[in-house]
Amino acid sequence: MEKASASAWRKFSARYNMIGNVCKTCNTKYFPPRIVCKNCGRNTKMESFAFTGNGEIFSFTKIHVPSEAFKESAPYVIGVIKLDEGPLVEGHIVESSKEPQIGAKVKQVFRRMYTDGEEGLITYHFKFELI
Ligand SMILES: [Zn+2]
Repeated sequence: MEKASASAWRKFSARYNMIGNVCKTCNTKYFPPRIVCKNCGRNTKMESFAFTGNGEIFSFTKIHVPSEAFKESAPYVIGVIKLDEGPLVEGHIVESSKEPQIGAKVKQVFRRMYTDGEEGLITYHFKFELI
């Protein structure tokens, strides 16, 4: 039980602070973190790496027909963001006065994701905002 809890907190930190890792052999950066580098295999030496959260829109789409959890937010934009450090990561792109475009610069922000269940537990996650 204690192990599961510690594991959950590590994942929590990685998710909210964009902590990935970097292969010290070939300098490839990963988010989410990987145990083994895709390039180096067994010669991997991974180290924790904090991403800036800055990047650009690689692709995006607007969701008009959401799942139950996201019905309050629809329509909303989700995208694939190419982080400045290299990895592609999926995320919501928060509403703003600017229209999202491929190549537009974004930064990571921390926002409410959805409200869960009848008790209204609010879940937060990183999203991206146009800059
Ligand atoms: Zn490597």
